Amino acid sequence: MTARVLDGVPIANAIRAEVAVRAKGYEAKGRRPGLAVVIVGENPASQVYVKAKGKACDEAGMHSETVRLPDNATEADLLKVVERLNNDPKIHGFLVQLPLPGHINSERVLNAINPAKDADGFHPVNVGKLSIGDPTALKPATPFGVQQMLVRSNIETRGANAVIVGRSNIVGKPMASLLIQPGKGGDATVTVCHSKSKDLPAICRSADILVVAIGKPEFVTADMVRPGAVVIDVGINRVDDASQAKGYRIVGDVAYKPVAEVASAITPVPGGVGRMTIAMLLQNTLQAFEQAGG
Ligand code: NDP
Repeated sequence: MTARVLDGVPIANAIRAEVAVRAKGYEAKGRRPGLAVVIVGENPASQVYVKAKGKACDEAGMHSETVRLPDNATEADLLKVVERLNNDPKIHGFLVQLPLPGHINSERVLNAINPAKDADGFHPVNVGKLSIGDPTALKPATPFGVQQMLVRSNIETRGANAVIVGRSNIVGKPMASLLIQPGKGGDATVTVCHSKSKDLPAICRSADILVVAIGKPEFVTADMVRPGAVVIDVGINRVDDASQAKGYRIVGDVAYKPVAEVASAITPVPGGVGRMTIAMLLQNTLQAFEQAGG
């Protein structure tokens, strides 16, 4: 079997276009959804991501703002910015780019964000809402993007055995919350695995839908995948590769080639789940804007 490739680009573009149309509808009324991104320090990967977010906002007709703080900014400085954005009527959603420098307590900062403006969906209020199936929850962009990929690729989650490898608060756990909810893109029977799980290969082989988010290059091999399963690779890892000009290449948590021989569908890395994240962030900003009265 050669798997269908679940290309994130057209799916993300479709979502971005839908958001742009809805945002445009408010323009006539003189209102515009706004997203702000706060970045502390000079982490190059974060800089690239933040730039891409700004561009995506412009293309969707949204107001965007980037707040840059130096590496040595204090937690109090950052909390002041959070407070300002919490009260800024032009901003409907914002996020503080992680990772933060070690001297800043990320949890305290994330908890200070107004849950109604929590574009990343990491605030405990949104985590709780997602867990009880409250439709006003702002959902973490990456697992929300995975769910949209499944729905828009006509992959049935209802009744499916979904195995999630990884239990982080930003991917694994919210992925489980999404797939277990009743309704479209949900109704799955969910198993969540982690580094202490016993006989991981056997659990993975029980999956109709296997979502992998562990941060280990090409960890999931073909023998861990049931023939015909759908494989979603969230991982983004750099591996040394002297044949590349940059000296590295990006791979997922799944050994793509051999797994594509047994799976019925698979997401590539790059070009799969990673493409969905910004689209879902725009979607969250629009949702926050509409929930605030539009
Ligand atoms: P974390 O490091 O926070 O969590 C990793 C999880 O994987 C942990 O729960 C850990 O278990 C589990 N794990 C690690 N090794 C094993 C193993 N050998 N067997 C079973 N479970 C294991 O990672 P994130 O969730 O933040 O990210 C995961 C991957 O997804 C990374 O590659 C990251 O770059 C990528 N990512 C991609 C995004 C995108 O936009 N596409 C967005 C966010 C992340 P334990 O809890 O027991 O330690």
